[in-house]
Amino acid sequence: MKIHTVSGYESVGANMTAVEVDGEVVICDVGADVERVVEADAPFETLSTETAIASGLVPDDGDLFARREDVVAIVVGHAHLDHCLGVAKLAGAYDCPIYATPYTARVLDRLIEEDVEAAHNDVRELELGGRTRLSPHVDLEFVNVTHSIPGAALTVLHTPDGAVAYSLDFKLDPAPTLGRPTDESRLREIADEGIAAYVADCTRVDEPGRTGSEREAATQLRNVLDTAYRENRAVVLSTFSSHIARLANVLDANDGRRRVAFLGWSLRQYTDPARDLGLVDLSNVEVHGEKGDVAARLREADPAEWLFVVTGHQGEPNAVLTELADRTLPLALDERDRVILASSTIPTPINRASRDALERALRDRGVRVDGGVHVHGHALRQDHRDMLALLDATHVLPAHAGAEKQGTLAALARERGYVVGETVHPSQNGRVVDLDS
Ligand SMILES: [Zn+2]
Repeated sequence: MKIHTVSGYESVGANMTAVEVDGEVVICDVGADVERVVEADAPFETLSTETAIASGLVPDDGDLFARREDVVAIVVGHAHLDHCLGVAKLAGAYDCPIYATPYTARVLDRLIEEDVEAAHNDVRELELGGRTRLSPHVDLEFVNVTHSIPGAALTVLHTPDGAVAYSLDFKLDPAPTLGRPTDESRLREIADEGIAAYVADCTRVDEPGRTGSEREAATQLRNVLDTAYRENRAVVLSTFSSHIARLANVLDANDGRRRVAFLGWSLRQYTDPARDLGLVDLSNVEVHGEKGDVAARLREADPAEWLFVVTGHQGEPNAVLTELADRTLPLALDERDRVILASSTIPTPINRASRDALERALRDRGVRVDGGVHVHGHALRQDHRDMLALLDATHVLPAHAGAEKQGTLAALARERGYVVGETVHPSQNGRVVDLDS
């Protein structure tokens, strides 16, 4: 068995891994470097595959492309863009289907449809808990895991050389507010049969403890809205557009006290499929759409009657919150208005700088900013210890971060007797880890 660590092994983002068994290859995730996509001069969907690769927006899959006849499937574990946006550029070169859970598949359909490359691959839905045949030798199973988006799967490939468990991304939330807890009993069964390789999401392995439950975020949201609503001022809240559980918790915390508007392109992109699948009730959202028209429509409204849920909590250029801070939208924020950032900063230098600039611009104008109303979607160090023990894989490959975090995960593996270079394999982009040698 060989694991191709194509991308996502030097920083957080643009994930792509491939598993090779007996000459057959299954690709797990084809993401994009989201912050570069946001900063790029031209809209991502208008770029050619060659330009997207050359600009470092999507993984450089040259080595796999050279042997594309061997690729039997592309599997996408969840619909975060660092795991799925690259599909729109790269999948078309492979003559194989794409597998995803229903929510992820619907997000993928939109991304592919809007993209100039118009990939032709068949997007096939597999439910959480489902299993299907990818080739005569390889089966795919999606095991339910908790994360921060609906339909997140731990991808398991059942091969003649043992199972591969690909955990990008997961947390262990015992009481999620949407969906079921991580299916630890099924993972234990698979582990009992034998897991040859575990590809581990180590995005936040450097942080001690365990990740809290989304239920804690729900309580925080209610408290912060209670405080914010005491004054008759505008309240603007921004969170991850794909965090459907969080958005549902925002609506619950609002509890009909204010009228609700959702503003911004990516909110639409992610909430429409969730509503269509019955994952969230948006019937109380009165205004739902893209920023220009909607903001103009709301200009005459009394801001104190509304809860504005908007895009832009990372300070992304062109997002609604950034334009509210810069006063380039018809709606304006004034002194004593309140902005709630129901998110953390994605841990990369560009994001940290953009988020700092956003908060500074708001505070300079006297806007009150409540930051960090949030519980993470990624496992922390103790969760990783639990997962390593649960899966008990023969080989471990840390992924979804650079050398430092991979080293931290490798150190946790060493506590369990793994040996660096023999059974735990930190890697870099574009490498092949041969587990047979
Ligand atoms: Zn994710």
